[in-house]
Amino acid sequence: MLQPIDISVFLALVTAIVAIGFICLQAWYDRRDAILSDHRRLSSVFSCTRCALTYVRPRRREEAPCPRCGWNNVRLKF
Ligand SMILES: [Zn+2]
Repeated sequence: MLQPIDISVFLALVTAIVAIGFICLQAWYDRRDAILSDHRRLSSVFSCTRCALTYVRPRRREEAPCPRCGWNNVRLKF
């Protein structure tokens, strides 16, 4: 029992569905970028004073042990 609809109504529906899809995609990408940006911004960089290894640890922290030699290093500040 399908009723024929006007072509302008059909095009308006398709346009609305596509527009809603683009808005949802934009919101999803914005949220993903914010999460990735926070993750990168909150990481801490260390340079080992014993073996000269440069390494990154998640979250903001002042000290972290070197993964190669175990020496406890202070976070680099830029
Ligand atoms: Zn080291």
